[in-house]
Amino acid sequence: MIKGIVFDIKKYAIHDGPGIRTTVFMKGCPLSCVWCHNPESIDFSIGKIKKELKLDGKVIESTENVGREMSVSEVMREVEKDLLFYEESGGGVTFSGGEAFVQHEFLLAMLKSCKAKGISTCVDTSGYVNKSILEKAIPLTDIFLFDIKLMDEELHKRYCGVPNGQILENFRTIHQSGAKVRFRFPVIPTITDTDDNLKKVAEFAAQFSDVPVDLLPYHKIGKDKYRRLGMKYHMEGIEKPSDEYMNKIAAFFTGYGIRTKIGG
Ligand code: SF4
Repeated sequence: MIKGIVFDIKKYAIHDGPGIRTTVFMKGCPLSCVWCHNPESIDFSIGKIKKELKLDGKVIESTENVGREMSVSEVMREVEKDLLFYEESGGGVTFSGGEAFVQHEFLLAMLKSCKAKGISTCVDTSGYVNKSILEKAIPLTDIFLFDIKLMDEELHKRYCGVPNGQILENFRTIHQSGAKVRFRFPVIPTITDTDDNLKKVAEFAAQFSDVPVDLLPYHKIGKDKYRRLGMKYHMEGIEKPSDEYMNKIAAFFTGYGIRTKIGG
């Protein structure tokens, strides 16, 4: 029986693909983006995070597991509880992470199971995956949400921990296959929003005229998790971009003829 490690299952998600969705967050990521807001997802194994409860002015500390082993049928049982919502809203299931492809056997088994039951599938990916595995997922995936972060290879290595050649090639592979894909670009102040990177990302995106771009503004939601995990937080002093600034970036992309949306 194929099993995997899942660290969260989010119901009624509305930013992880079309309609109302259930998002299955899978553990493990080969990248280490300095702005990651799910730092608990990066480690491949079941980990621990500090939990703090406030009671009568006192803080009570304990720890809880991050991740649990689940079988495909256990995940599907959760997913199938909301079939009606998917049907009514054009939604379905999104597999995310971490990097969902890290547990590729588990992912492929769940995608097959969803397809067999007529449930729409979406895979949210960094694109850092072996091409032969990606090709197995393409016929089983209705939409890919594909993150492109930095076009310069050295900067990609510096800020995300891995080179980007495979990622860009995989984006082309998905597009050439005719599969539906949305291009997701995280706007991370001082890192991905430099003039040079914005220009290169827009030039790359403009090559795929039918692919829309979602601009994902940096946020600090994950900050406290770094402390509770005992991990270093790299984004001190970096603030969430303003709406005005995001609109400016959206206009920049639109200027390249790209269909652009702010948010996921
Ligand atoms: S690819 Fe996503 S999950 Fe992985 S480190 Fe980067 S932001 Fe975090």
